[in-house]
Amino acid sequence: KAKEAGRNATRFFDQAMQTTLDHRAGLEAGLRHALAREEFVLYAQPQVNAEGALIGAELLLRWQPPGQALVLPNDFIPLAEESGLIVPIGLWVLHSACATLRRWAADPRRAGLALAVNVSARQFRQPDFVEQVASALSYFSIAPQRLKLELTESLLLDKVDEVVAKMRALHALGVCFSLDDFGTGYASLAYLKRFPFEQLKIDRSFIRDIASDPDDAAIVRAIVAMGDALRLDVVAEGVENDAQYAYLTEHGCRAFQGYLFGRPVPLAEFETRLES
Ligand code: C2E
Ligand code: MG
Ligand code: MG
Ligand code: MG
Repeated sequence: KAKEAGRNATRFFDQAMQTTLDHRAGLEAGLRHALAREEFVLYAQPQVNAEGALIGAELLLRWQPPGQALVLPNDFIPLAEESGLIVPIGLWVLHSACATLRRWAADPRRAGLALAVNVSARQFRQPDFVEQVASALSYFSIAPQRLKLELTESLLLDKVDEVVAKMRALHALGVCFSLDDFGTGYASLAYLKRFPFEQLKIDRSFIRDIASDPDDAAIVRAIVAMGDALRLDVVAEGVENDAQYAYLTEHGCRAFQGYLFGRPVPLAEFETRLES
């Protein structure tokens, strides 16, 4: 009996594995052609200052396979990273961001806004990443200060000298860096000194219960204080309600992103709203 149950469990497991593998293979095949078929869509989410005024936006990628539901990044970025497809996809995102900044530069109401893009480790580690950014900046002739590259802590843990050199080269061009999901990885602020970041984004897992959990509140206060000490801008991610916003402003946080100020919307819609 036990043996039979074991066999059934194995069969069940094999089938589940196979389904997962089929799903992955299908996903990867679809992803491979998604760029050429223009199935990627960029969404934009507003970022605001302590007065609630718009200071910029983060671009967030979505995949729209025809006739299917919209696919969110967590469901395809890991696969795009493993397969290397993230490199051309990331380049498309970068070019789209620069093209957008180009459009905005012509309009005094939008010329001061910054645009943040997420850069995956695999993309950043490409030997020609610096040249790719430099040529995008000059092709679209935009002010480099408007472009913000969001990196995550995992990138900072390996081949540090190489990463520092690349960041310095991009920094010399005028590009800004933001450390995304801060607090979830292993980077200490002392160690952060070595990298030319302008900004830290406090991960939204610390913001969620900030108004009720004293530990989260303490962590956030510490991040804000350390950010101030190291002259880094601090942005709170995932701000969803007034209680969170009130706590953050009261404790010195000066930049915010989250559903309270606006959900990510298609970039075209974001731009239409800016005009009205
Ligand atoms: P992220 O860079 O930390 O982006 C913030 C995520 O939090 C976004 O999820 C956004 O929709 C979500 N968010 C914003 N405000 C709130 C809020 O108030 N409440 C909650 N619950 N969530 C909020 P999204 O768009 O699903 O993106 C997930 C992750 O995928 C991003 O995290 C980023 O790491 C990655 N990603 C997105 N676009 C790109 C891209 O173009 N390239 C790369 N390499 N990664 C990307
Ligand atoms: Mg981000
Ligand atoms: Mg984040
Ligand atoms: Mg994240």
